[in-house]
Amino acid sequence: MRVKPKKRLGQNFLADGNIRHKIIAACEFGPDDSVLEIGAGQGEMTGLIAGQVKQVYALELDYGLAGLLKNNLAEIKNLEIINQDVLKFDFKSFLKNIKGKITVFGNIPYYITTPIIERLLENREKIKVAYLTVQKEFAQRVVAGPGSKQFGSLSCFLQYFTQAQIKFIISKGSFWPRPKVDSCLLELKMREAPAVKVKDEDYFFKIIRAGFNQRRKTLRNSLKEVINRETLDLFFQKYNIKENIRPEQLSLEQFAGLANMV
Ligand code: SAM
Repeated sequence: MRVKPKKRLGQNFLADGNIRHKIIAACEFGPDDSVLEIGAGQGEMTGLIAGQVKQVYALELDYGLAGLLKNNLAEIKNLEIINQDVLKFDFKSFLKNIKGKITVFGNIPYYITTPIIERLLENREKIKVAYLTVQKEFAQRVVAGPGSKQFGSLSCFLQYFTQAQIKFIISKGSFWPRPKVDSCLLELKMREAPAVKVKDEDYFFKIIRAGFNQRRKTLRNSLKEVINRETLDLFFQKYNIKENIRPEQLSLEQFAGLANMV
């Protein structure tokens, strides 16, 4: 029996069996892995993942769906269903009891993509990799490099902490009900150490945010409020940068170089 999907909970279920298998093949699960699944839904992916790994913990906020999962997947012994809101979930206590690092998987509700990723980054020491199905445009912003229109503070922030890669695009027609936009499978491998060395992380991100705040301005104008003129002059000379450069043309290394000069 089909459940009535709740739009407010982002319930677009992965209906295409071929895509489910393609996702499993792309996720590089291992037999010793523990996996935390976010938004298990009706178990579209849950059983397939459980067949590949040691243990699955499946979070689902919807009380009815969590009950359905417990009934339908009762045979699967390496599965625990947790009826909780991922944004209220106590990651710290949960991860303390996990041996080694966990793998995160989620065909996640779009309306909370950013807060979910923030939670994952806060707990990155205990997370090996996250495989997330997200809106295509969001993923394209995450993996964008300098010089591209999509490159922005989201790209810098995530590329600083993770190795981000789009595995493949998933057409909106693979979901039921069909969403308005395409998705893709995004891989976020947590880095052992950040991509670039910075003396003061808060300041580094402050510069990046200020730099991208008004994208039509030149970098020099955008950064006027956060860096003094002399330091900016020195930076432009040291890196041989044109005066009219725009923020999206600067690399992560250059943002780090700038932050470290202050
Ligand atoms: N895993 C299923 C699939 O692949 O088809 C369902 C994916 S559906 C896009 C997202 C799921 O996340 C829904 O089942 C929804 O009820 C659940 N969900 C929504 N908000 C949540 C939250 N805050 N915490 C945990 N689960 C949530």
